[in-house]
Amino acid sequence: MYRLRDAGFLAYLVGGGVRDIYLGKIPKDFDISTSASPNEIRKIFRNSRIIGRRFRLVQVFFGGGKIVEVSTFRCRTDDDEPGDEASVLPSNNEFGDPAEDAFRRDLTINAIFYEIEHYTVIDYTGGVKDLQDKIVRLVGDPGRRITRDPVRMMRVIRHAARASFTIHDETWAAIVEHKEMLNLCPDSRVRDELFKDLRGGDCRAWAELALDSGIFHVLFPFYHQVLLDDAEAKQSRILLLNLLGVLDRLVTDGQTVPEEVLFSLLLIPLFKADSDLMAVQTQQAASALALVIRDRLEGYFSRLNIKRSTQDLVARALVTLPLMVAHEKGGEWPKWLTRKSYFAIGKQLFELYSEACGMKQVAEVVFPVAPQASTEVAKSSFSSGGGSRGPAFAPGTKGGVFGFRKD
Ligand code: ATP
Ligand code: MG
Repeated sequence: MYRLRDAGFLAYLVGGGVRDIYLGKIPKDFDISTSASPNEIRKIFRNSRIIGRRFRLVQVFFGGGKIVEVSTFRCRTDDDEPGDEASVLPSNNEFGDPAEDAFRRDLTINAIFYEIEHYTVIDYTGGVKDLQDKIVRLVGDPGRRITRDPVRMMRVIRHAARASFTIHDETWAAIVEHKEMLNLCPDSRVRDELFKDLRGGDCRAWAELALDSGIFHVLFPFYHQVLLDDAEAKQSRILLLNLLGVLDRLVTDGQTVPEEVLFSLLLIPLFKADSDLMAVQTQQAASALALVIRDRLEGYFSRLNIKRSTQDLVARALVTLPLMVAHEKGGEWPKWLTRKSYFAIGKQLFELYSEACGMKQVAEVVFPVAPQASTEVAKSSFSSGGGSRGPAFAPGTKGGVFGFRKD
């Protein structure tokens, strides 16, 4: 920001970074908006590259793998141009001024700027008040903003779940009304957003909002019947939320939960309700049901682009679960079961299921791949030490980063 300023440009810290600092959290990443064009930014930072198709922005690389994304203030034409309201965004790379840039953002709490001339925040959309009141609100007319980019509905729910904020009435009503529009978005974008939610550590709260708004049913239409209003549906919902609560616990413990475990957890209530999964008692019955599940998963997962091998593991893990439950009381697993290649994942699922059903937390479920937890990365990436030429973000300093204060 200082370097851009010294070169004669405006430069603000924007987006989730400002929001998280305000909430006393350590941001995952930092984004900068500036009056400099991508080419001008490139000239100022030789350690950078231009990326992006719809919007060009510049990634600036610092030591230790730190990347700061710098984008030019964008205009509002994407949301406010009159005309074809029903269509999703056209390709657009128009630049604008800071106010326009704020108004094209998704949520008011994500549209606050932090500037280094007076060390203050600039708030065009009422984001500071919404942060104080703990409200998630779409910037502008909610229906219109959703229509132009339906993925924003997922972002509303994510941030409300993550921060335990309330969703503003009009924003909520617009989500309920337009939820089906999510189907118009490219699968890859929905998938990216969904994985952030499932792996974000607040999946239980996310699922409650997604279920209540109907977004869950748009994302997982195959679940619809099982979660309709009756006593059994209520049980399915409770089990689903409890399973996702266990998933959150694993994520909070710093584990990277493999896709097959994640989707197995998500699908237990479905197959329990509509295929009598837990009644499976024999190896033969398990194999037969695994085939049925595998076929169904292919249809379910076509949009999510889940690998065939992962789907196979999910089917196997699911049908192993009732066998484990049935044999648990004997105190020992049958030999034939322990020899199966899917024994390990089946056992993990069984332990997590037991935890979700109120049994005590399993001592330790460790998944094979356990890369560094993202919070660790965030912490280490932005400390100012180490003599690197990284930006001088100093989370420990008095008064917060750059003296930024909550009050
Ligand atoms: P996180 O902590 O998950 O990174 P974030 O708010 O920083 O949350 P990003 O995906 O990093 O989310 O996006 C950075 C900023 O870009 C957001 O804060 C928001 O201002 C803006 N933004 C992202 N997606 C959209 C969108 N679909 N429409 C409008 N603005 C968006
Ligand atoms: Mg971010």
